[in-house]
Amino acid sequence: MIDARSLTPRLPALRLLIDGQGVEPLEGGTLPVVNPATGEKVCDVPSAAAVDVDRAVKSARRAFESGPWSRMSARERGKLIRKLADLLWERREEFALVESLNNGKTFRDAVRGDVAPGAGTLAYFADWADKIHGEVLPVNGPFHTYVLKEPVGVAGLIVPWNYPTCILCWKLGPALAAGCTVVVKPSEMTPLTAMKLGELALEAGFPPGVINVVTGYGDPAGESLARHPDVDKISFTGSGRTARRLMQASASSNLKKLTLELGGKSPQVIFSDADLERAVEACFWGIFGNKGETCNAGSRVLVQDGIYDDFVGRLVVRARQLRVGDPLDPSTEMGAQVSQKQLDTILGYVESGRQQGAHLLAGGERDTENLKAKGFFMRPTVFGEVKPDMKIAQEEIFGPVLSCLRFKDDAHALELANGTLYGLAASLWTHDVAKAHALARKVKSGVVWINCFNEFDDAAPFGGYKESGWGRDLSHHALEGYLQCKAVWTRLPTDV
Ligand code: NAD
Repeated sequence: MIDARSLTPRLPALRLLIDGQGVEPLEGGTLPVVNPATGEKVCDVPSAAAVDVDRAVKSARRAFESGPWSRMSARERGKLIRKLADLLWERREEFALVESLNNGKTFRDAVRGDVAPGAGTLAYFADWADKIHGEVLPVNGPFHTYVLKEPVGVAGLIVPWNYPTCILCWKLGPALAAGCTVVVKPSEMTPLTAMKLGELALEAGFPPGVINVVTGYGDPAGESLARHPDVDKISFTGSGRTARRLMQASASSNLKKLTLELGGKSPQVIFSDADLERAVEACFWGIFGNKGETCNAGSRVLVQDGIYDDFVGRLVVRARQLRVGDPLDPSTEMGAQVSQKQLDTILGYVESGRQQGAHLLAGGERDTENLKAKGFFMRPTVFGEVKPDMKIAQEEIFGPVLSCLRFKDDAHALELANGTLYGLAASLWTHDVAKAHALARKVKSGVVWINCFNEFDDAAPFGGYKESGWGRDLSHHALEGYLQCKAVWTRLPTDV
């Protein structure tokens, strides 16, 4: 892989993208974008107000109802999405450099875990565009009755800061394949790659208004998109707190449809017959990959009594060896947390773990060694002897903090695994595969991995049970979130 320190970042034009043009906000001001590894400002981007969001929605509506997009065949639409996928793939290092500067993740993670998979997802949904079709129904009576699959209309895509390119592509791909037009609202902390993707879409040949990008704060930019009466759907990834605001906004406007991908407290369950070496690696990267800022991070490790000391001991050794530092340095394994605020939240959870009596086995503090003092770096942290009612066992920390709990038997493991408000993902480690399949049916989460963790494929749906969300990203299941079905009835003559 190329040494990112030799590259010059190519920032996008610092404008809103509305109707195919880079424009200044009419009313909003600007917001600063900060490099988490240095604490320094990278640039200012526009902070959209309600009036700017309204312009973007009007442009998306025009493109949906009467622009070239509305007349384009599904196959042509697919070709355009594929072109965008190809351009993103070609420029993955250029995008990853900007992502790393903006988010603090390592350049390697930005290429392999964010931009490249994002391009793959666009390519996957490009292939779906001309395979969406309805059906003919065998109804009673002299009727020809069929179902049309139609795009829901204008979709607002509100995305978070942890995988800014990838998660945007998870939504953009199916929305465009279904025939929707979109208004994208990236996180105020990581807007740069969404802005670049908007520019790339124009280069690929997308007609004006199909993809609009409004940067800005959750309120007013996100909130006015969610309350807009001419937006048909919001696809959201973020916190449960914001999800509740979106539900209220939908209820008080036009009952717009919602897909909600929210948080998690994913358990990795290690039975005493597991392949311990592989499980240690999976648990280690499951929490420290992307610096723990991953919705499905394996933030709880549940270990069977007999192997607990050995297993947790191995994890602690690995955690102490992890190289934290400059995200652009190829030898770095973990970069900077996204913001000072996020770092403070993480440190607050560490303090609560200490106070509630968990054993701090590694890390537990900010990393201020050398140049890291300027950025938002955290030492990889492992807590042992965590009890299920502790905050660090229940709440999403969204940082490199691992909580290790003991369990006695299968029933106890299941009780702990299901014992939070979340249900995004879980993994089961055992050689007894029949038992694993039986338990997989009882685990309340949208994904269950057996003897593996964090495996993704565009063909496999991703999303949550319980308070981890509604609806699914990825796979053909995601398309349903951007489609409606219409039943068309025709009376047939009975004398032929
Ligand atoms: P957040 O909810 O604060 O923000 C997410 C997005 O919503 C941002 O673009 C933000 O500007 C916008 N927003 C904030 N307030 C809004 C409002 N009132 N109306 C409309 N939009 C608003 O979440 P975050 O801090 O960016 O992301 C972290 C959270 O996201 C974590 O809880 C994490 O688990 C979750 N997450 C889930 C998944 C998943 O797929 N399930 C993936 C990534 C992150």
